[in-house]
Amino acid sequence: MKNYKIAICPGHYKFQKGARVNGLIEYDETVVIADKLYTYLNDYAFCSAYFVAGSLRTKVKDINTKNFDLAIDIHLNSVTAKHVSGTETLHSGSNNSMLLAEKIQDELVACFELVDRGMKKGYFEGNNKKRLLYFLRATKCPAVIPEPLFMSNKFDLEYLDHELISKCLGLGILSYMRELEY
Ligand SMILES: [Zn+2]
Repeated sequence: MKNYKIAICPGHYKFQKGARVNGLIEYDETVVIADKLYTYLNDYAFCSAYFVAGSLRTKVKDINTKNFDLAIDIHLNSVTAKHVSGTETLHSGSNNSMLLAEKIQDELVACFELVDRGMKKGYFEGNNKKRLLYFLRATKCPAVIPEPLFMSNKFDLEYLDHELISKCLGLGILSYMRELEY
């Protein structure tokens, strides 16, 4: 198997930490998941995982100048309607981004048994009249944004197990690579 260079990004960054709900701060949670995913993937000889953090533009610029094979920006979902629940993975619409999203979504859904909201093209605010999210639009290599659960839903939060989420993301990435090889 060829060596895959993987960019692992925590969603948001220290000066703009994303959603704050139910006593949690999105960035603080995604950093932990990203860090565990980094460790998980680097155990495989054919994976070179890198932790890429900073503002959205910094991350994308970093990824595009360093020739990555794939990139993942980890988020946790949040809406004002507290009953909304489930797992989704956003892609750019390119073939490989869709394949990667599909593999990650499969692993997350199998593991958490939350509502399968599917993989979807990642538009700003989920509105297909708006532009694709910058991370998906501007990153040159296949890129995805997994949203394993809703931080705004107390039931979903019972599944906020950083170790397990990172393992599902890792398994999805490995399964994507295997599919590319065969
Ligand atoms: Zn977010």
